Amino acid sequence: MADLTLYEQLAESIGIKGSGIIPEMFAMIADEDEAKFVLAAAPPGTVEEIAQKAGIPLEKAEKMVRPLFLKGLLFKSKKPGETRYYKIRNYVQFHDGTVLSPDIPEGYLALLREFEKTLVKDMQEGRDQAGYTPFMRVVPINVTVDAKTQVLAMDDVEKMIQEANVIAVTACSCRTIHPVTEVPLEVCMQLDKAAVYAIDRGTGRELTKEQAMEMLHMCEKEGLVHCVINTQSLGYMICNCDNQSCSNWPGDKKYAKTFAAPSRFLAVVDSENCSACDACIDRCYFYAISMGGKGDTAQVDEDRCMGCGLCAVTCPEDAITMKEVRKIETIPAG
Ligand code: SF4
Ligand code: SF4
Repeated sequence: MADLTLYEQLAESIGIKGSGIIPEMFAMIADEDEAKFVLAAAPPGTVEEIAQKAGIPLEKAEKMVRPLFLKGLLFKSKKPGETRYYKIRNYVQFHDGTVLSPDIPEGYLALLREFEKTLVKDMQEGRDQAGYTPFMRVVPINVTVDAKTQVLAMDDVEKMIQEANVIAVTACSCRTIHPVTEVPLEVCMQLDKAAVYAIDRGTGRELTKEQAMEMLHMCEKEGLVHCVINTQSLGYMICNCDNQSCSNWPGDKKYAKTFAAPSRFLAVVDSENCSACDACIDRCYFYAISMGGKGDTAQVDEDRCMGCGLCAVTCPEDAITMKEVRKIETIPAG
């Protein structure tokens, strides 16, 4: 790390090596002392400890902490007692956190769009994927499932809302980076500690459970797909994703499973009930449905289906059900 600039060190510390763009973006939002302070905040420490490690006078460091927190570069430690801080840890935090800062510099989002083009190309071509586990997973809309299927709490966004103590909504970071006017912007739901963080930072608006449920149903009506953190435990975020801007499936949708994990479910068409109306084909983001089924009815491509359930809620004949095809063990324990 010794030969790298402070900003290159920051980029490497969030897992991005060899990029000219990410160091340039860090330089846009942090001066050199701020960069030193952020780098020194690993492991977590008090302001005094981090300032000493970074060689920055305590008085100056105390003034830097709140702005760095608001920029999404510094986080508060979850441990009770004395407030401790730790640095931004990964690209997801960089993507989701820094773009929602109120004082984002001009040109910042354009650089991120440029960086994402390279990242997407690399991943689609199969580079840099050793050991890669998708960070997000699709969760089906609350649709009809077949009789043998068990819907677990981690598959159920309504259950996640009911279990949460604090709920907040923020703007969608993907639609902030890639503006889409046809669908709502403020639909990214944060739960518990993530909600407290968003409210404290001023990027989140607190919701009651009733407001959160209404928002979920509004998203379903808008044809947005629910995504959660890809673990077996109830996560801290519910994304409501569109098919144009979302970083969970950027670019060509045939590569969607490269970036996000499918849900545990697969759409299955009952050809006896299908009237071949095409509504499900129009609704599916992932080009997973064709009219290749028995008697020219709808048919689902198992390799492409992400298990979102949008087709099932759209079908006027109730001809589509969601069938469990992946056991809980296939989801990372978290
Ligand atoms: S076929 Fe398409 S719309 Fe239906 S569940 Fe699969 S991915 Fe979703
Ligand atoms: S929406 Fe339903 S009825 Fe229409 S083509 Fe799809 S499965 Fe068949």
